[in-house]
Amino acid sequence: MDRRTFAKLLSSALIARSSGLRALMNGNRIVVVGAGIVGSSIAYHLTKMGAEVTVIERDRPAAHASGKSFAWINASYPKKPYSYHHLSRLSLLAYHRLETEIGIDVHWGGSLEWFTSPENQKMLTQEIKIQQDYGVPIEMISDEKAKELEPNVKFDKNAKIAFSQIDGAVDAIKLVDRFLSKTVSLGGDVFHPVTYEGLKTTGQKIVAIKTSVGEIEADQVVFACGVDTDDLLEIDVLKMSRPGIILRTQPIKKVIDIQNNKTGKLFAFCCECNALP
Ligand SMILES: Cc1cc2nc3c(=O)[nH]c(=O)nc-3n(C[C@H](O)[C@H](O)[C@H](O)COP(=O)(O)OP(=O)(O)OC[C@H]3O[C@@H](n4cnc5c(N)ncnc54)[C@H](O)[C@@H]3O)c2cc1C
Repeated sequence: MDRRTFAKLLSSALIARSSGLRALMNGNRIVVVGAGIVGSSIAYHLTKMGAEVTVIERDRPAAHASGKSFAWINASYPKKPYSYHHLSRLSLLAYHRLETEIGIDVHWGGSLEWFTSPENQKMLTQEIKIQQDYGVPIEMISDEKAKELEPNVKFDKNAKIAFSQIDGAVDAIKLVDRFLSKTVSLGGDVFHPVTYEGLKTTGQKIVAIKTSVGEIEADQVVFACGVDTDDLLEIDVLKMSRPGIILRTQPIKKVIDIQNNKTGKLFAFCCECNALP
């Protein structure tokens, strides 16, 4: 199936289901493959809706993208089309709900973003304008104002910094763990390391999945395998994954957010910016 056909099918499926994951509930034994943020969230929400959910994970929960993520919860990019941006805004609301529903600790307080190169800074200014038109509470602030928010950062004189007030951050590993423990406490199962190997069907109907440890009966399967999903399903839907470098250091003294406990600022530094003291 080509990308366009798949996208059409996917969007019609999204429109057809009246409420979130309800369409999956025909036959309620559901296996979720992959225990990143996506799989664990789906598992929790399906279990809450009454499905009999089994999660399988090849490595360990949050072992891949979810465990490496900066976990910045934001609606501060001018994502297009608007519906995509709207989805991000809804996700912010979902995190507010989850805070009380499953007791996660979200660090709300906004984000700062700026660039040192004039071209990138110009692009940022244009993007902020688009977001303001979308109704996002985001503004350009001066270096002095930014310094008040985050005294340990050396902002360039006269820099203009985008301040997005509604952003937050979460510990993604803890969140995945919380989703899974809630899934289990509601009657679901989580197994790892267990690798998905294929479907077992009778006619058109799924009856089980084959895994590295044997078969698991299932009526429905959710593939939440991150970058492996395309290969696993032999489809071409996801963006190509690109290599990147993440540097990890020994724990160092906290230099950002250290004196701002009242407002709790989250800061995102662009890669080209070398503003830390
Ligand atoms: C460095 C970095 C920073 C990021 N920062 C942000 C950010 O600030 N904000 C943001 O919103 N997003 C951010 N992202 C993106 C975000 O982390 C990902 O979009 C998200 O984690 C994807 O979650 P996932 O559950 O789809 O995938 P994953 O977390 O990769 O989970 C997929 C799981 O499926 C399992 N799996 C695969 N194949 C099989 C199989 N055959 N059988 C069983 N299990 C299988 C894998 O082992 C894996 O654990 C960042 C990503 C990176 C890498």
